[in-house]
Amino acid sequence: MNSYEYLLEDINSIKGIGTKTSKLFRKKNINTIFDILWSLPRNSIDRTNLVKLNELQIGKIQTITVNVIKYNFPRIRNLPNRVFCEDDTGKIECIFFNSYEGYIKKILPIRSTVTISGKISYYKKKYQITNPSHISSDTDSIRKIFSNYSLTEGLTEKKYNNIIKEVLKNIPDLKEWLSDEILKKFNYISWNKAILELHDPKNIKKGGNFLNRLIFDEIISTFLINSKVRKKIKKIKKINKKFDNTEFSKIKNKINFELTNDQKIAIEQINNDLKSNQKMFRLLQGDVGSGKTIVALIASANVISSGFQVCLMAPTEILAKQHYNLANRLFDKDINIKILTSKNEYRERKEILKDLNNNHINFLIGTHSLFQEKIKYNNLGLIIIDEQHKFGVKQRKKLSDKGGKNCDVLVMSATPIPRTMIMTVFGDMDTSIIKNKPKNRKEIKTYSKLETKTDEVIKFVKKQINQKNQVFWVCPLIEESKKVDHQSSVKRYENLKKIFKNKVGLLHGALDKEEKNNILINFLNRKIDILVSTTVIEVGIDFPNANLIIIENANKFGLSQLHQLRGRVGRGDKESYCILLFKSNLSENAKKRINILKNSSDGFKISEEDMKLRGYGDLLGFKQSGLQSFRLADPILNEDLFLLAEKEVKKIELEDQNLSKYMTLLKLYDRADILNDLV
Ligand code: ADP
Ligand code: MG
Repeated sequence: MNSYEYLLEDINSIKGIGTKTSKLFRKKNINTIFDILWSLPRNSIDRTNLVKLNELQIGKIQTITVNVIKYNFPRIRNLPNRVFCEDDTGKIECIFFNSYEGYIKKILPIRSTVTISGKISYYKKKYQITNPSHISSDTDSIRKIFSNYSLTEGLTEKKYNNIIKEVLKNIPDLKEWLSDEILKKFNYISWNKAILELHDPKNIKKGGNFLNRLIFDEIISTFLINSKVRKKIKKIKKINKKFDNTEFSKIKNKINFELTNDQKIAIEQINNDLKSNQKMFRLLQGDVGSGKTIVALIASANVISSGFQVCLMAPTEILAKQHYNLANRLFDKDINIKILTSKNEYRERKEILKDLNNNHINFLIGTHSLFQEKIKYNNLGLIIIDEQHKFGVKQRKKLSDKGGKNCDVLVMSATPIPRTMIMTVFGDMDTSIIKNKPKNRKEIKTYSKLETKTDEVIKFVKKQINQKNQVFWVCPLIEESKKVDHQSSVKRYENLKKIFKNKVGLLHGALDKEEKNNILINFLNRKIDILVSTTVIEVGIDFPNANLIIIENANKFGLSQLHQLRGRVGRGDKESYCILLFKSNLSENAKKRINILKNSSDGFKISEEDMKLRGYGDLLGFKQSGLQSFRLADPILNEDLFLLAEKEVKKIELEDQNLSKYMTLLKLYDRADILNDLV
């Protein structure tokens, strides 16, 4: 057996782990020996110091040596068993819930001398230890420093420590994968040494280079796996798409704005990919409102003119519809565009599937339903995915595979992620970034106000409406209960209706799709001036005439989310405003965060600053989405290690095409479980 293979063995193979214990581990997502080693202790508990009963400190973990005097085993359910103990300075009771008499008699024989360690409490003027886990007549086995792992219920610290000890005994010497130059930065600490040291309770707090080495391994393995995916996809030879500037010119003539420099560069990069005979796997990243859609549609028109089909996948039906409308306006009439969502009737749907298979449809727009088994394209040449930041490496790769070898892939995202995370989340793709927004955009003036001043806000709304502008009024979603999700918005709607009559519309999650669509269309056609909604005004919808957004209870939202919401306005050339309403005065920290928003309109900068204040944790919703999250690495705290890894990966890509030296590392750390798909 290769030495690393031992590490990938199931935890069942460890001495001392039976089915019951292994279940507890699996609950914590620990399945292999490697997983155990990688879950480092958080700190240590010092049980070395022996104290007398008259020196006990309540609430602390203490170690005592006592004589067992007498038992009290009540025959009533739910009452704990008790054992009375003493030393020459005082008395203490050991309390046992859910323990059998036999067991207690065995570990605490009457009249014996035992060493016990546990947390001291004080009840009815008596010292107590409840369910002590460290009891032995062998004092030395208790008087030790124990590593403190994050335990699940049912798994005692002692048991965990024993298991770790067993595993550490067998830990193999792995062949070093890091380059000498990198290794030097970590003081030549090997993986093996780092693991051993960090599990040693005496060293836990030290971390330092031991920890950094492991963090670096975690980062670079993620990057290398991404790199491998990218290379694998790029190796696929496809028929290159042949087109000239005709479609581009036609579309340019139909839009009433000049493309920004970044848009032009992105189009150029995409065109080069399409025309090459390597498969495209590209991310188009740009803040909300930066104008990604037009870039995607130009690419689509080019691919269609070269004789291939294109499909565009949007996160919501409303957005799909909007893309559909725009494509219909911009594309030649002889291009057949269809929209496929859950709304299509059965017959219509069948028709679409047939035409798709016959190559009668050139451009299919829809939601995720575009990739069901049943849907067969005739010659799909480009897949575009809009705003699906919850798509991970593995899902993207699957999609690309499904598209077939001639199918290019373009992913669009407005998720503002800092540089350290791009390599992590999108490292499998080439990237085009739209940094600058269209020139006509003005800064959106952002204010915060107390809810008690809502009257002033309403005055301001009146003023905007008199100037023929439109207004979003956002009420927070009440997540706890689906039933009352919309209550805050209904209330606000009724209140505004008294003032603005039939010029107000209401949009919330409890409406069906038809109703939602009607309201949005009414807003687009300016039949209503104010759209009250919960956050269902999904990302991406474009209402150029709206110039004021009011966000109620704004502290319910993260900064990035507020920035995304704010991006709903300020798309025309009018002066635009965002008013954040708060229930009570802001705390210092909240003020700091809101100031970031007021002073910047750069989504990337906002998310980065916010991360610095809040930690990267769940800022981007990665946790729920099951996307990459690190066990040890933190993109903010370990920024330097991320950048170092980025540089190193570029070097490795040049030197070691097959990553042969890194195979052990990759196999150990492949949490996306994608490596097997690549061979
Ligand atoms: P996003 O990048 O968030 O998807 P959109 O593609 O929806 O942004 O574009 C937002 C708005 O900006 C649309 O109304 C679009 O027509 C407009 N737009 C796009 N590019 C430009 C440009 N170069 N100049 C002016 N307006 C533009
Ligand atoms: Mg968009």
